[in-house]
Amino acid sequence: MHGAPTPTELSTSASPLPRSMRLLERGWLSANNIVFLDDDHNASVVDTGYVLHAAQTVALVRHALDGRQLARIVNTHLHSDHCGGNAALQATYGGAAHCAVTVPAGELQAVNSWDEDALSFRSTGQQAAGFSAAAGMAAGDLLQLGGMSWRVHAAPGHDPHALMLFQPEVRLLISGDALWQHGFGVVFPEMVGEGGFAATRRTLDAIAALAPAAVIPGHGAAFTDVTAALERARSRLGVFEANPERHARHGLRVLLKFQLLQQPEGVACDDLRVWFGDAELVARTACHFWPTLTLDALFSETLDALLLAGAASRRDHLVCNAGPA
Ligand SMILES: [Zn+2]
Repeated sequence: MHGAPTPTELSTSASPLPRSMRLLERGWLSANNIVFLDDDHNASVVDTGYVLHAAQTVALVRHALDGRQLARIVNTHLHSDHCGGNAALQATYGGAAHCAVTVPAGELQAVNSWDEDALSFRSTGQQAAGFSAAAGMAAGDLLQLGGMSWRVHAAPGHDPHALMLFQPEVRLLISGDALWQHGFGVVFPEMVGEGGFAATRRTLDAIAALAPAAVIPGHGAAFTDVTAALERARSRLGVFEANPERHARHGLRVLLKFQLLQQPEGVACDDLRVWFGDAELVARTACHFWPTLTLDALFSETLDALLLAGAASRRDHLVCNAGPA
């Protein structure tokens, strides 16, 4: 007698990845890395994790490459958890001349001039290591990865420049943070009143129209119950659309949690408060939604919400990550 298959076994048996692909499932601090064995000599990777995990990313990718040269890095979008391993991988595999980075075309110039005001790292108070990109990609482009043609699709919402990749024969979608099995990434422009919910809805509609057989998300395991995931995402989006303030509070909690994930040994509460006060995105969100609230009060509210949800714990003056991820 066999027990009921686990969700992983189910998704694997329903939609095995093509033999030329390896999914390196990471966590929430580092996005998943998707390795493509292009031929016997060369390989590519989509997304490279967070900079604090760069050494681990290099080791994992090197193992997956099985002696091949990493000839290309592709980023679905340029958030710190998706491109933080670019510099280390590029350095390991012969520099920009031998390991070419492809980024969303709208951010190519900002990357190559390393414009931290245009890129998101400074405003979110997150870390990154500079790299150079060889090319931009845009909706409609075709990328050759793992011996297959992948169509680039726009995925604005979470990030206005975000892109996703779809392989029409095997109907696989690499969604970045546009769709996870349970939700989607914070719609950052909405935190500062710039709009993004409508774009998020259009992106979810675009995914539904592609009708993928399986989705490889930026975080979490690959999944095949795409219709259910879309239903959950649309319902969550509806809640946020009805209450943008609730979404902004959620966004602040996500940013604070990201700080905790970076420091498994815990963070001094005072240091966390300093980070909160220094992050430009936090200040702009506060200004947009709660102009009369002090940053101290907003910090306490945000931290209390994480503690109450069991997503953080407190030991004397230290705040530690807790709960899943
Ligand atoms: Zn992400």
